[in-house]
Amino acid sequence: MSEGDESVRRRYRFAEWALTAVPTMAVRHFGKCLMCGQRSADTAEPDEAQVWCLKHAGLTHHSGYELSAFQYFNATMTDPKAEQRVT
Ligand SMILES: [Zn+2]
Repeated sequence: MSEGDESVRRRYRFAEWALTAVPTMAVRHFGKCLMCGQRSADTAEPDEAQVWCLKHAGLTHHSGYELSAFQYFNATMTDPKAEQRVT
């Protein structure tokens, strides 16, 4: 971690932040082949990511896969006055 990151963290040390999942953005899933690096398009349906892996295995005989999920979050300061106290 660079020193720049450290100074940002110090500045917000007393600030309270909260992460909130973006309500309109569902958890997304995708499959990735560990042998050739190809990955599926991300989808809201975990089964579709697994089906992509099975189809890829059928076409290529590649046998190593990674299934991943990700979600979008917003970070909001729960106590805006906290930042003023620190600076
Ligand atoms: Zn592959």
